[in-house]
Amino acid sequence: MNRTNAGDELAGCVAQLRWHLWGLREAGVRSRAPSAPQSPPRAHPAAPADGRETLSRIGEELQGCTRCGLHSGRANLVFGEGSARSGLVFVGEGPGADEDRLGRPFVGRAGKLLDKMIFAMGLDRTEVYICNVVKCRPPENRAPLPDEVASCAPFLFRQIDALGPKVLCALGLSAAQALLGSSEPLSSLRGKARLWRGMPLVCTYHPAYLLRTPSRKASAWQDLKEIMRLLKP
Ligand code: SF4
Repeated sequence: MNRTNAGDELAGCVAQLRWHLWGLREAGVRSRAPSAPQSPPRAHPAAPADGRETLSRIGEELQGCTRCGLHSGRANLVFGEGSARSGLVFVGEGPGADEDRLGRPFVGRAGKLLDKMIFAMGLDRTEVYICNVVKCRPPENRAPLPDEVASCAPFLFRQIDALGPKVLCALGLSAAQALLGSSEPLSSLRGKARLWRGMPLVCTYHPAYLLRTPSRKASAWQDLKEIMRLLKP
């Protein structure tokens, strides 16, 4: 076995172990080992030095946004946070109650699960960027309507362009359909990497769905493994 294969095999074992540990924690098994360190995420990563549009500028443009009806019910606009240091950007559907209250993406129960998924991939939340298709909370956590997506998605696309990631991950049906301009079900959109403007896009289940349907976690792990493969240099 050469060194590259041995390294790949070791990385695969570590990832499987992390996934197994996640499963144990989900099942309520606790250990005395300290949990993964959680550094506070940065609100906006540093501007890229290659002249691309900056996230700060896009964020400023969205301040006080009233482009769609979702503005009327929001407490806070949830722009996104993290960095694309790992090359990975997660795109969810829209803020929920906790996110709306705190102005940060994926901070409720689904966010905790997303943290574990990121950890299982050998990454830290600060190394990925997390955002949503719509930046204001849809009432009753419903899926965003087509006109709401149409109003907000251009800002998402500019965010992704500014970040310049290697791989995109769509979390759930709304994000997958918005990015791909598709009306196909998630069962058709996941399972193999797609392309978004020439960039690999992996569609997987939303963590909130995985909380309700743990039997899908094995399939989600396959999607995460595909992302890990695409992120390799
Ligand atoms: S969801 Fe997007 S387009 Fe609609 S009001 Fe909020 S920031 Fe503006």
